[in-house]
Amino acid sequence: MWTIKNYLAKILGYLFPSCCYICKKEGETICDKCIKTFPKNIDILPQYIISVFSFRDEKIKNIIHAIKYYHRKDLIKPLARELAKKIQDEGYAKQESNELTNNQLLITNNCVLIPIPMPTIRKYMRGYNQSELIAKEISEILSIPMNTKLLVRSRNTKRQVKTFNKAERMKNQCHSFKIIGDVSNLNIILIDDVTTTGATISEARNILLEHKAREVQAITIAH
Ligand SMILES: [Zn+2]
Repeated sequence: MWTIKNYLAKILGYLFPSCCYICKKEGETICDKCIKTFPKNIDILPQYIISVFSFRDEKIKNIIHAIKYYHRKDLIKPLARELAKKIQDEGYAKQESNELTNNQLLITNNCVLIPIPMPTIRKYMRGYNQSELIAKEISEILSIPMNTKLLVRSRNTKRQVKTFNKAERMKNQCHSFKIIGDVSNLNIILIDDVTTTGATISEARNILLEHKAREVQAITIAH
């Protein structure tokens, strides 16, 4: 249904057509040509995590920063498309098999996308959870349902940038999630913008597996 907000967005689109964040060419907010130049992540991660791009790259860093701190939600769509492509490329629909090789995603009928939830206070301050917006786009592209109710934050964790090392980050993440509802037998793909140590994803994965999720894997824009 069209709302005033939609009309305003359309009018603004005519007045200020979007252009590529990197090369400024009119059109997509990040054009295909630029996306192709983004370096891929080549670091070895836990088997259950796939990160598409390298967070060492300044362009990627700036884009994620703009999404998180400058309300550039419009930069999410082209990146989410790349994640969806990766899920399609790596995924396979072999429901009865549990034999996953490195960085393969299990896509089955009971597959669900779960964005890593943000501490409530931070989501309130920012007005949105970027991981949720990424998951929403992927969900629309791949027709895999998204669920934001099953995995929730149980307490507010300190921001990772304010903690110093891996041990502290792990401690900070300890018991930071809880499960509401039934996750048993679900094949879950966790969605996050960036993974650094993998601590957040690992904590979320552990609690989902404790609650009998069948398989929990994760995909992020960058590492
Ligand atoms: Zn461009």
